[in-house]
Amino acid sequence: MPLLEVRNLKQYFRVGGGFFAKKKVVKAVDNLSFVIEKGETLGLVGESGCGKSTTGRSVLRLLPKSPTEGEIYYNGADITRAEMLPYRRKMQIVFQDPYASLDPRVTVGDTVGEALDIHKLYENRAERQEKIMSLLHTVGLNSEHSNRYPHEFSGGQRQRIGIARALAVDPEFIVCDEPVSALDVSIQAQIVNMFEDLQQERQLAYLFIAHDLSVVKHISNRIGVMYLGKLVELAPSDELTFHSLHPYTQSLISAIPVPDPKVRVKRIALEGDVPSPLDPPSGCNFRTRCPRAEAKCAEREPEMREIKTGHFVSCHLI
Ligand code: SF4
Repeated sequence: MPLLEVRNLKQYFRVGGGFFAKKKVVKAVDNLSFVIEKGETLGLVGESGCGKSTTGRSVLRLLPKSPTEGEIYYNGADITRAEMLPYRRKMQIVFQDPYASLDPRVTVGDTVGEALDIHKLYENRAERQEKIMSLLHTVGLNSEHSNRYPHEFSGGQRQRIGIARALAVDPEFIVCDEPVSALDVSIQAQIVNMFEDLQQERQLAYLFIAHDLSVVKHISNRIGVMYLGKLVELAPSDELTFHSLHPYTQSLISAIPVPDPKVRVKRIALEGDVPSPLDPPSGCNFRTRCPRAEAKCAEREPEMREIKTGHFVSCHLI
């Protein structure tokens, strides 16, 4: 049984509207299916606004609305519309922006201790303090940091605080929502390495969301590529990196910088912008930017098919 199973998840929002105008529907997440095994990392990549973060929040049920359609199973239990408090201990999130995700008026110790308080994970004050110190050490901070406030820390340190807060309840699964995007490149590797070490030590499963494929391929066992709310390709990390099939994935991979200047990679540049999710193209929603689009791409939406074991792709030409 997978730790997390998402079946045909749809998360739609009604937006706009007024006296004369009708509300429109944004299909932020449209028919997504995937599983995550215990101790596994599934990377999720795509451009800004493609629905990655909404997917992460939807599976954790952090959105104000339950999913529009589809099902989410955690350890076999249907949590699509379940009361989530019992699951919050097992399912956590690390946010993108370490500046915005911490309350500036709360000390680091109390930020980390809040989750312990909510779930009553200590017998007395001494045990609470001991657990906070242990969590701070786990993420590379020390006991002196406990009484300080978030503004006294660098971006990397604040992200460490966010990770300590997520670890406080001893979770099994963490949604890492662009956890290194706001950090300097020099700090990104430290944080990604820490995620890997924590995974080894605690058998954690991650849904690792990023727009940068080079970060995701480093940490993920499998990678899903999203475009305009849909999953267009899903494969093991090496398979996706070296044998990608979908034109959008191929374009993302061609944009990864290669460290060796002698190696020349042909860049596949996409024309135009991502279409508005309020008015997506007919048929394949990538067709307005796809260098291989044909007439049939406008007529029918391609289905997700398993091309090789574990390698799924949605394109009429494959
Ligand atoms: Fe391109 Fe057509 Fe494949 Fe869509 S279905 S990715 S438009 S070739």
